[in-house]
Amino acid sequence: MIDLAALPDSHGHFGPYGGMFVPETLMTALNELAAEYEAARRDPVFQAQLAKTLKDFAGRPTPLYYAERLTQQLGGAKIYLKREDLLHTGAHKINNALGQILLAQRMGKTRIIAETGAGQHGVATATVAARAGLECVIYMGAVDMERQALNVARMRFLGAKVVPVTAGQATLKEAINEAMRDWVTHVRHTHYILGSALGSHPYPMMVRDFHRVIGDEARSQILQIEGRLPDLLLACVGGGSNAIGLFWPFLNDESVRMIGIEAGGRGIRLGDHAARFQGGKLGVLQGTKTYLLADEDGQIQLTHSVSAGLDYAAIGPEHAYLRDLGRIGYDFATDDDALDAFQRLSQTEGIIPALESAHAIAGILKHAPTLSKDQILIANLSGRGDKDVAQAAEILLQNPRP
Ligand SMILES: *Cc1c(COP(=O)(O)O)cnc(C)c1O
Repeated sequence: MIDLAALPDSHGHFGPYGGMFVPETLMTALNELAAEYEAARRDPVFQAQLAKTLKDFAGRPTPLYYAERLTQQLGGAKIYLKREDLLHTGAHKINNALGQILLAQRMGKTRIIAETGAGQHGVATATVAARAGLECVIYMGAVDMERQALNVARMRFLGAKVVPVTAGQATLKEAINEAMRDWVTHVRHTHYILGSALGSHPYPMMVRDFHRVIGDEARSQILQIEGRLPDLLLACVGGGSNAIGLFWPFLNDESVRMIGIEAGGRGIRLGDHAARFQGGKLGVLQGTKTYLLADEDGQIQLTHSVSAGLDYAAIGPEHAYLRDLGRIGYDFATDDDALDAFQRLSQTEGIIPALESAHAIAGILKHAPTLSKDQILIANLSGRGDKDVAQAAEILLQNPRP
């Protein structure tokens, strides 16, 4: 049997996926980053510093919350929510941003850049850069800046420069291109804090490692509360960082099923969704070989999701491999499913989820009733919905749901 916890190999391969598909000018920087990360990972001083910051600044550990009313309403599995929404800045993204900025400081970098989709990663990066006293530039698609105006204002209050990207679809993919272009030019003193389990090695591994704290905590919390492992884990999957963070510590527990929920958008027709495992194919995008949405000629397709944070054409390479192996299942929720779930969780549990996380909640609504009452489900509540209130209000007030 493959030891899933031993992946990737030293060149960043998860089976046939992953790797380092970048211009020559970035290879030195990526190799330096990989070497520095290997050293930091084994350095108890670095790990202690990270753990202390996660606790005192970000608010870890996050609770594992028993959603009693939702459990009763659905009549199936006992439902627990991992409350990443309670972290400082409102989503899981701060785990990775804190890890990477400590690494940047360790490497003597003085300037931080990042891309952002929904703005959550930009806010997390601007936050840790402010705390570290480092210059910070965030690249963001012009369309996303409009959808997520609140987060743009937050980044600017935090002292970051937000650069609008108008190329192509003017969303996350183009923002990543711009960030990579910046990095090539300023690589000597700049660290690029990539925001998901994507891109060239070592990012998918490093980002995963910085988020595994989610699954580590959830595992010990459920063992303490219930005295046993859960039967099913659910998480939404954009690039795949919150999902792999929750899933990873359970990968070698054969009894634990896992399902990642992708964005089904307006439905599974090319251009209307961002569910890479629904009609996607093998390709290379922005540093990594993985599943992506492309046409016959390999051109990257337009994507759509009501949630900016899930609106990306590629999925992290580790997910592609774990799907091939059958270890993780993948399903999707449409915009409508997610909006229903957004409202349902708000009114049943008093928790307004991020629209991204609402896809995981839609997964609960679908899968919990298929399980029995003595089974246990944990879903990752990756972020809070404050940033999405204006957008959801516009949609839901026009089309009220029962
Ligand atoms: C960014 C974001 C996501 C999607 O990113 P992953 O890397 O797939 O986790 C999910 N939920 C929230 C709240 C986010 O901000």
